Amino acid sequence: MSDRPRLTTTAGAPLSSNQNAKTVGPRGPVLLEDYQLIEKLAHQNRERVPERVVHAKGWGAYGTLTVTEDVTRYSRAKVFSEVGKKTEMLARFSTVAGEQGAADAERDVRGFSLKFYTEEGNWDVVGNNTPVFFVGDPYKFPDFIHTQKRHPRTNLRSATAMWDFWSLCPESLHQVTILMSDRGIPVDPSRMNGYGSHTFSLWNAAGERFWVKFHFKTRQGHKTFTNEEAEKVIAKSRESYQEALYGMIEAGEFPKWDFFIQVMPEMEAEEFEQKTGWSAFDLTKVWPHGMYPLIKVGEFELNRNPDNYFTEIEQSAFNPSNVVPGIGFSPDKMLQGRLFSYPDAHRYRIGVHYESLEVNKPRCPVAHYNRDGSMPFGLKTNPDAYYEPNSFGGPVEDPSVEEPPHRYSGQVGRYEFRGEADHYSQPRALFKLFDDAHKQRLFKTLAGAMQGVPEFIVERQLAHFDKVDAAYGAGVRKALAEQGRDDAQASLTTSHSAEAAE
Ligand code: NDP
Repeated sequence: MSDRPRLTTTAGAPLSSNQNAKTVGPRGPVLLEDYQLIEKLAHQNRERVPERVVHAKGWGAYGTLTVTEDVTRYSRAKVFSEVGKKTEMLARFSTVAGEQGAADAERDVRGFSLKFYTEEGNWDVVGNNTPVFFVGDPYKFPDFIHTQKRHPRTNLRSATAMWDFWSLCPESLHQVTILMSDRGIPVDPSRMNGYGSHTFSLWNAAGERFWVKFHFKTRQGHKTFTNEEAEKVIAKSRESYQEALYGMIEAGEFPKWDFFIQVMPEMEAEEFEQKTGWSAFDLTKVWPHGMYPLIKVGEFELNRNPDNYFTEIEQSAFNPSNVVPGIGFSPDKMLQGRLFSYPDAHRYRIGVHYESLEVNKPRCPVAHYNRDGSMPFGLKTNPDAYYEPNSFGGPVEDPSVEEPPHRYSGQVGRYEFRGEADHYSQPRALFKLFDDAHKQRLFKTLAGAMQGVPEFIVERQLAHFDKVDAAYGAGVRKALAEQGRDDAQASLTTSHSAEAAE
């Protein structure tokens, strides 16, 4: 025998052969008692967990957050407790719409999820590479995602569905403009910013609360593909992001981001609303830097590839609900919706004890009274203290980590999100940042993305572009005229005449 480990069954018994099935004679048939063969085949059938409905295709790595500035005046979170403090972390980047086999270099928003294994629990920032999102009300989230996925009958992505939805939900205009701009296809995960996007909160040791936005700015600089460049990349490799991220970390070229916050004192939210007409908690809007400048917190680098993609990245579970003392939520409606939907996705995909998996497990002690269910491994509990309150030494609460009370008040109702609200000035501010060549690429990309979409939907969307800037609408109109109408494409974007349904 060699000094290699002995092959065993999953129950640990040594195996005599991993080559030949147990048969009656050399021809077969195979015996049911060849349990190891059955186990092997059965296991193969169970090698997948359901892929994420959104953000299915992802790339990830471990890293280190280093705090470089003192922000203890805003937050008592231990992760920020001193300059120089280092915290182990995990990052997972992703596309939103594509399935697991989708090509990496597609035009799409990128997920930008970070898990910080802090000494007071895991803090997850489940962000994107854009500071805003398409919708601001969680009622619209499943509908929006349906438009990004396959049409039920054609089983193809539908430009008609996308533009129908976007043109009926003008709050999407800001994100649509970013998506169709040069930033829509970063060349790899290291060449893009990350944003917590939602408004979160920080609270300090004195019990003062601040609203906050998280920003992670790439140190590698932005680098993006045009549609034509991306098509060439995809023709050669569907895995260009995995290759780039894995490759740069293996080569010791660790990608880095600067970590900033924008901070709004708690009582200023109303003043902001009166001054600007925007809510500080609207996910379709940013806080202008001129009003709330970026404040440096620190930096992070990614410096270790996972050893097992499935267990460490596919099963990594990020929840915006994972905050730690000193960090809290805000009334942002979409955030409130995601506080439910993200952990619920993990319970469904991975199982109720997904936080006990090595990659998700906090690096600090964990003590709670959740019991049983599928595979509660690794939870060491006091057998007599399996309920609370108890007299047998079970874990007890710590009132010192209670966050300061919120001042919410108002009448319960279902408030109109869209209405006459201002969906145009922030896309306008962005449009003005683009130089002429960038604007031309934006028009061309938009016109290309509208191929096959019924005329009345295109017209409805053009009216929104006009409201942003007359040059925006005119530019897209011109690009549409130049590209002409592709009737073959039209027949594929919906299964019946959308005009008839208007
Ligand atoms: P500023 O001029 O202070 O900031 C402009 C911001 O736009 C920078 O953060 C820059 O990011 C970013 N940017 C530049 N090109 C693009 C692009 N193609 N897609 C997305 N972002 C881009 O302006 P304001 O803060 O007043 O905001 C003006 C507009 O800038 C906003 O309406 C919004 O669309 C966009 N923006 C604002 C952000 C914010 O938090 N205030 C964040 C990101 C975008 P970088 O520094 O990385 O180049």
